[in-house]
Amino acid sequence: MIRKYTRILLLATILCGCNPQARGLPAATVAPSAPETKTVLLLQSYHKGMAWADDITTGVETTLGQAMPNIELTVEYMDTKRAFDAEHLENLLRLYRHKFAATHFDLIITADDNALDFILQYRDELFPGAPVVFCGVNRYSDDRLLGQLGITGVVEKTENMKTVQLARQLHPGVDTIHVIVDRTPTGLTLHEQLDAALSDIQSEIKLVYWDDVTAAELEQQLQNLSPTKDIVYFMSFHQDKAGHTFSSDEIMDLIYQHSQAPIYATGKEYLGLGILGGYLNWGYNQGETAAKMSVRIFQGESPDAIPVITQPESPAIFDYRQMEKWGVAIEQLPPDSIIAYKPVSVFEQYRAMIITTGLTFLFLLAIIVLLVINVQKKRQAQRALRRQNRELAMLNRIILTAASTSDTQQVLEVLCRELATTLNVPQAAATALDPEKDSGVVVAEYLAPGRTSALGTRFAIHGSQATHYVFTQKKPLVIEEAQTDARMGNDQEIMKQRGTVSLLLVPLVVKGKVVSSIGLDAIEHRVFTPDEIALVQSAATAAGQALEVAELNRALQRYNEELEDKVQQRTLELHAATEQARAADRAKSEFVSNVSHELRTPLTNIKLYIDLIQHGYTERQKFYVETVGRETERLQNLIEDLLSISRLDLGKIAPQFEEVDLNRLISTLSDDRRRLFAEHGIQLNVQLDPTLPAAQADPKLIEQVLTNLLSNAMHYTTGKEVWIKTDQVEQEERAWITLSVQDQGPGIPEEEQRQIFERFYRGAAGKAPNIPGAGLGLAISKEIMRLHQGRITLKSQKGQGSTFTLWLPVGP
Ligand code: ADP
Repeated sequence: MIRKYTRILLLATILCGCNPQARGLPAATVAPSAPETKTVLLLQSYHKGMAWADDITTGVETTLGQAMPNIELTVEYMDTKRAFDAEHLENLLRLYRHKFAATHFDLIITADDNALDFILQYRDELFPGAPVVFCGVNRYSDDRLLGQLGITGVVEKTENMKTVQLARQLHPGVDTIHVIVDRTPTGLTLHEQLDAALSDIQSEIKLVYWDDVTAAELEQQLQNLSPTKDIVYFMSFHQDKAGHTFSSDEIMDLIYQHSQAPIYATGKEYLGLGILGGYLNWGYNQGETAAKMSVRIFQGESPDAIPVITQPESPAIFDYRQMEKWGVAIEQLPPDSIIAYKPVSVFEQYRAMIITTGLTFLFLLAIIVLLVINVQKKRQAQRALRRQNRELAMLNRIILTAASTSDTQQVLEVLCRELATTLNVPQAAATALDPEKDSGVVVAEYLAPGRTSALGTRFAIHGSQATHYVFTQKKPLVIEEAQTDARMGNDQEIMKQRGTVSLLLVPLVVKGKVVSSIGLDAIEHRVFTPDEIALVQSAATAAGQALEVAELNRALQRYNEELEDKVQQRTLELHAATEQARAADRAKSEFVSNVSHELRTPLTNIKLYIDLIQHGYTERQKFYVETVGRETERLQNLIEDLLSISRLDLGKIAPQFEEVDLNRLISTLSDDRRRLFAEHGIQLNVQLDPTLPAAQADPKLIEQVLTNLLSNAMHYTTGKEVWIKTDQVEQEERAWITLSVQDQGPGIPEEEQRQIFERFYRGAAGKAPNIPGAGLGLAISKEIMRLHQGRITLKSQKGQGSTFTLWLPVGP
């Protein structure tokens, strides 16, 4: 269907004469000829401006032009419609003779009978040897070309029978055909042809010839026609009965103005002037056919071998406007009909543009839809992101608060505020749970303006299924109707007081235990979404974990501090130990140096006096020997002391404890020494506590200490008496036995008192001449007392004598 309309459109355009280029019907499928220029003369019988003649010219021009680009076409008009007599023809002969004397034509095309006749007569003179192709010839018979060579062409044949039959088909009720044809020679010929053509159907339909009428009569008769029973068939009318001549336009105008019946015609030149249509002779067809035959001749075919076309095909051509007027539908027409003057719909005219625009529009629409969807998705994503950001910020605030404070209540307050504002509820309360007392108490809350505080509200953890559930399951719980829901138990009352309709309970878990529950109170019915519940849960979890972490941090900090203290203490101890070790090392060096020194003095003396014994004065021999004896004794004492010290240091002296009666030990010892004291002019007094209990002690070691103290007292006292005493003392919640030796010596200055128990220390008194000793006695005594879990103390003042006291614990 579309193809058909496309063809109709194309041909309509051609027929309207809008585009001369488009007039070319399918081009001759011939190979291009040699590039040499061919000259062609188209000799027209009539004049330029006559539609028939112009169509032939166009057909020739277009077809030749497409098949052979190097054609030079000359068109000559004989104008025999206006002048057609012997003189005119002679004039033409003279004109052409002169005009084309120097011009050679490779081929002559003649249009219509007059031109053919002229050429047949003068071709040898005017255009000798040029092949001739004719067209538009009406009067044709084979004998017309008799004796002529190099000539062929196409005959013009009016399809009378086909047109009449088509008209009868399109107008089934028609019984009469009114033929308009004049009595000019052409008219007569046409008349004859029609008669011959329709001879077979003369009995079926009535033919009325209007060949001898005036224009007025014609008008009159046309007005009387029936639109359904009559048809006008126009053949040719240039002169009426009255001798008036008419152009085609004039006569057609007249006919169209007055005809009550549809008009058919024989030639395409009447199309558009009011005729409905028919199988129309078309000059273009004639010109095209002649041009195609010319091309064959140029390609080398002999004109005599190309048969004359006597039955050319004429297309059925219709005027769309007349079809509408007479109710003829396109479908009724023969398949290859050409329909002219069909208005081109806007769609057909701009089809490609409309389709392109439509598709572009659809494409853009699709893109817009996609973009809109995309924008919406993006907005959704942005909204979700904003929400998530807000929630994250909230979680962050809760975590920061929980991590920065040890104040659980503060964390709970922040949690309440953040959850209430995020979930847009007017009240949130946090309870501290005490499972041991099965009690909960509201300790922190958030209140919107106008809400009543619930701080201090108490309830039992297991007083309602709801709290019990949250506490044991460690999961959030939504109660949508908290005032009536049985799971609220006794807490329904609290809900009523608070005006809470829907309640969301969330546990706060720290170290795996529910320490608190957060209640979010909605004062109208509220369905908490799974997202909201999840958010609340994560907030509570985050707070719980942050609290846990904070707790751990604090513990860690405490532990750190303790550790630091310990390290410091250990460092100090280490310092002290190092100091001690250094002191011990120093003491050892000092000890060695002291020992050497102390040994050297008696040895030097002994050596000196032995020398004196050998070489000195004989009378002083006794003194020398005594001195050697004394020095030897001193050396011996010194070595004894050194051995004692050494054994004590090495732990080789293990005291042999036994029950010792110290009174008795002192009595014996003082009895032994009293004579020696007396030799020094000193009286040794003893004052014993008769109730003195027995002591756990090594008597030999105690005796060694006492001997040493008595020896010092004897050496250092300047007075006449030395006392030795026993006593019992309660001190430091213990019972002690004390043994003291008191002298009347110079006393020991305070600055010396701390040092006299050190090894080799000799005070001012000890450094006096003739006082034996190496500063070891008191050091040994101190060690021995330590082995007895006891001690040795000194009480002394300068010039007041000294009292050394030995302390022995009573009992085992
Ligand atoms: P030594 O008597 O051999 O010097 P000690 O260890 O027994 O060594 O005594 C140390 C010092 O203590 C003596 O050098 C002396 O200065 C002082 N000292 C000890 N006993 C007395 C005392 N009874 N009166 C005064 N000074 C004393």
